[in-house]
Amino acid sequence: MSAKIINGNEISAQIKGELKQEVTYMKEKYGVVPGLVTILVGKNPASVSYVTAKQKTAYELGFYSIQDDQPEDISEENLLMLIDKYNKDPKIHGILVQLPLPKHINEKHIITAIDPDKDVDCFHPINVGRMVIGGEEARFLPCTPAGIQELIVRSGFETSGAEVVVVGRSNIVGKPIAIIMLQKGKGANSTVTVVHTGTKNLEAHCKRADILIVAAGVPHLVKPEWIKPGACVIDVGVNRVGEKISEKTGKLVPILKGDVDFEAAKEIAGAITPVPGGVGPMTITMLMKNTVTSAKLHAGIK
Ligand code: NAP
Repeated sequence: MSAKIINGNEISAQIKGELKQEVTYMKEKYGVVPGLVTILVGKNPASVSYVTAKQKTAYELGFYSIQDDQPEDISEENLLMLIDKYNKDPKIHGILVQLPLPKHINEKHIITAIDPDKDVDCFHPINVGRMVIGGEEARFLPCTPAGIQELIVRSGFETSGAEVVVVGRSNIVGKPIAIIMLQKGKGANSTVTVVHTGTKNLEAHCKRADILIVAAGVPHLVKPEWIKPGACVIDVGVNRVGEKISEKTGKLVPILKGDVDFEAAKEIAGAITPVPGGVGPMTITMLMKNTVTSAKLHAGIK
């Protein structure tokens, strides 16, 4: 039997609908409008398109939003001053500095300069620590891992007691999703294993997974026979493997492959995310959720 396809676009639209209602309510009842600034240094095409998409979503949800474009050669000192300005701006609840930054700027200095209470990317070490402690401490969750958890929960998969295997241990995906899923609480409480290039038998670990989360960045790393029948498979990988002409626009677009062989895996898994259209759309949505959370925290709204 073919797996249920976990549609990230649909789930993302559902969450955005909920957020839009919340934003309207906050405006009407408390006069509070979530504010997000996205700071873009230089004109890297991928970064421009990410920031544009974030601003478009913020606008659609009724946020107060600013796109602050800075030249490629801005000094670290001037960028720090800009962050300080937004840290102090009461209309801004979320500050996002689009990464990567040019080589002359130390990313760590920038991330740690953002007020942790406005760090909606959840990259500041204080927020990483809060996420590890969990519960009420974890005011924000990093966007891609939070999106993965939403996909699993909203697809109806039981996480409590489930064997979760995470392939990859990066700071932005692998480690945080492992921590999120092992927390005691709803949508988590799983038994978590993290595997990486030092793992001896990747296949054996994957085969045990009730929920398999793959974030390695290696096209089709996970073979269909590594998947436990009925498992929930979340493929985070986005790998450019070539280019094709788009039927819609007639322009050259990248051919993307996940870390899992989707066509074969969907005949074994119980549920699976496609690439594209699975995890991808969730990241921006969870950024918006963090911004709404931040606005509520700043305004003392429960
Ligand atoms: P990363 O920083 O390169 O980390 C990859 C991890 O996978 C590392 O921990 C690495 O192990 C592990 N790994 C690589 N090859 C492996 C192998 N053959 N066997 C076992 N483990 C292996 O990547 P990332 O930033 O986490 O991103 C992973 C993928 O997700 C990429 O394709 C990226 O484009 C995608 N991504 C998508 C979204 C989204 O859709 N919103 C967001 C973020 C990332 P070691 O630590 O041992 O090197």
